[in-house]
Amino acid sequence: MSEQVERIKTLIIGSGPAGYTAAIYASRADLKPVMYTGMEPGGQLTTTTEVDNFPGYPEGIDGPTMMMQLQQQAERFGTDVRIGMVTAVDFSDEIGGLHKITVDDSKFIEAETVIISTGASAKYLNIPSEQRLRGGGVSACAVCDGFFYKGQEVAIVGAGDTAAEEASYLANICKKVTMLVRKDHMRASKAMQHRVNSIDNIEIRYNTEVDEVLGDQVVEGIRIVDNQTGEKEEISVTGLFIAIGHKPNTDIFKGQLDMDETGYIITQPKSTKTNKPGVFASGDAQDKIYRQAVTAAGTGCMAALDAERYLAAVESKEMMAS
Ligand SMILES: Cc1cc2nc3c(=O)[nH]c(=O)nc-3n(C[C@H](O)[C@H](O)[C@H](O)COP(=O)(O)OP(=O)(O)OC[C@H]3O[C@@H](n4cnc5c(N)ncnc54)[C@H](O)[C@@H]3O)c2cc1C
Repeated sequence: MSEQVERIKTLIIGSGPAGYTAAIYASRADLKPVMYTGMEPGGQLTTTTEVDNFPGYPEGIDGPTMMMQLQQQAERFGTDVRIGMVTAVDFSDEIGGLHKITVDDSKFIEAETVIISTGASAKYLNIPSEQRLRGGGVSACAVCDGFFYKGQEVAIVGAGDTAAEEASYLANICKKVTMLVRKDHMRASKAMQHRVNSIDNIEIRYNTEVDEVLGDQVVEGIRIVDNQTGEKEEISVTGLFIAIGHKPNTDIFKGQLDMDETGYIITQPKSTKTNKPGVFASGDAQDKIYRQAVTAAGTGCMAALDAERYLAAVESKEMMAS
């Protein structure tokens, strides 16, 4: 184990749209940010082909290219982008205190400010055919990918409020939406259930699970199974949306930062401030409502501005005291 401790002004944890946007702002403000990319450099968008809704790309752009360009933009202003995983944190409670961070269990950093942008991971069914066709018709984001299935027949798996909301979003675009609910009832609120039940082109199938996603390169259909009778049936769809929840990548911050019951970091209203001074949270790690690249980027910008203002306030306090 290396004993050396590196001291820095700003540490950015995570390299998705939130992290890179924070990096662009922080490096332009001379905070000399160091970023650790984590296990998925570029974040969730590197798992998708087409990003059609990020402003500034009239023809759309593929996710990996967009993230490479964001990295180049951050590096142009001096962000130090490093491959590595933050494995432990010990945040200070003091204003102006140093936050202790361990990277890959072997490197030690003390940072005056920390910007968390560790994102969230969509949950999948984890059947082999579903994993094979991710990006080929299987998607975990209806708002992102629904448009590609305009006028077509799709299915959505899930029973909560998000699934119900995504089903009604898809019903506006697609010819038919088959909603697959594992139990004999939905978890969604009564209001959301009422909404999906009143939409003509949504068919809800209870006690139903996906047995297999059909298709070689792209989704051509799904085989579903009635979990009460064991009866199987193939239905023809071109898209399968998985809406069974997300898991924020925040386990390493447990016990240190305030979180909601599902692990999303709680930030102060209209701010990225957490309960620890000098620690800011951005992107999907603190947002279970919007979960879009552009909103992640927006909060990444906010986090860098919040960090800059925090450092300026600490500095002026130190000057007053000296
Ligand atoms: C298939 C798919 C398609 C999508 N399509 C679109 C779209 O078309 N348009 C759109 O706006 N949104 C889309 N989204 C949503 C969008 O990708 C997310 O909202 C956005 O990426 C969130 O950005 P983020 O920066 O918060 O986190 P993420 O992109 O999730 O990035 C998190 C980063 O944190 C890193 N990390 C995690 N833990 C650690 C750690 N301990 N140490 C260091 N690093 C760590 C990861 O390696 C990763 O780099 C899509 C999502 C998916 C899954």
